[in-house]
Amino acid sequence: MKRSQKMKRYVWPILWVAACLALIAVLWQRCYEAVPGCTQQDLKTAADDCWVETLAPASVEETARRVYLTFDDGPSPTTETVLDILKEENVPATFFVIAAENNREYLPILQRTVAEGHQIALHSCTHEYRRIYADDTAYWEDIKELRQQLAPYVDAESIRWLRFPGGSTNTVSHKYGGSGIMSTLKRQAEEKGYRYVDWNVCAEDAAGGRPSAAEILHNVVEDAQGKDTCVVLMHDTKATKTTAEALPDIIDWFRENGYEFCTIDQMPPQQNGGGGGGGG
Ligand SMILES: [Zn+2]
Repeated sequence: MKRSQKMKRYVWPILWVAACLALIAVLWQRCYEAVPGCTQQDLKTAADDCWVETLAPASVEETARRVYLTFDDGPSPTTETVLDILKEENVPATFFVIAAENNREYLPILQRTVAEGHQIALHSCTHEYRRIYADDTAYWEDIKELRQQLAPYVDAESIRWLRFPGGSTNTVSHKYGGSGIMSTLKRQAEEKGYRYVDWNVCAEDAAGGRPSAAEILHNVVEDAQGKDTCVVLMHDTKATKTTAEALPDIIDWFRENGYEFCTIDQMPPQQNGGGGGGGG
C-alpha cells in the first residue's frame, strides 16, 4: 500500500470523529444556555393580558388568589335577587351604581346593599356617553349629580372608587370629547383623590342576544383561567336576570379554585386603573 493511500484510510475517520465531537460540543453548549434562557423567559411573560397581576407586589399575602365580583349599572329590579344569592353564599361584591331616571326608584335598595357588607362605588348618573364624555366639566357634573342622588341612602361623600362607563380606555368617548378625554379624566380623577378600576374578566352579559346563564358562566371561567387576581365585570339591570341565575355557579367556580372574595376597596394600592375594554 502506498503511503498516500494509508493516509486517506486514516484521515477520513479522524475527520468524521472531529466533526462529530464539534457537533456534540455545539449542541451541548446550546442546551446548557437554553435552560436559564427559557426560565427567565417564562418568568418574564407573566400574563400580559392581566394588568392587575403584573402590578401585584410579591408578598405572600398579596399573591394569594383574589376575586372581585363587580356589578355595573344598578340598582335595578334584579338587585334583590343578586343580594339574596350573595347572602346565601356569604361573599361580598362591589356595585358601581347609576342614578338614571329609569332606575332611581331602586336606589333605596342601596341601604340593604351596604348593610350586608357590600361596597357601593360610582359609575355615572345618566350613563349617557354623549353627555358625560362631552368634556371634563360635563363628566364631573354627572358625578356630582350621582352623589346627590345617592346621598339619602349611603354616605356618598366617602365614596372614592369609580369606574368609567365603557372602561378607562374606551374610545367611544373620543367621538364626543376628543381623543384626549379619557387621559384628562383619569388625571383629574387621581388629582381629586379618586381611584378607578376596570376589569380583566368579563361576563359579557350586557351583549346583545341575551346570553344564557350557562354562556355567562362559560365567559367568566374562560376569562379567569390562569389569573390570580380577577376583577369580574357583570351587570345589574332588569335585562340581566341570567347573570343572577349564573351567579351561584360563578361563585362556586372561584371558591373551588381557591380564590378569596374581596370588595374593590380591599384592592392593594399598586393595583389600579388600566385594563378592561368595552361594556362597563
Ligand atoms: Zn355601565
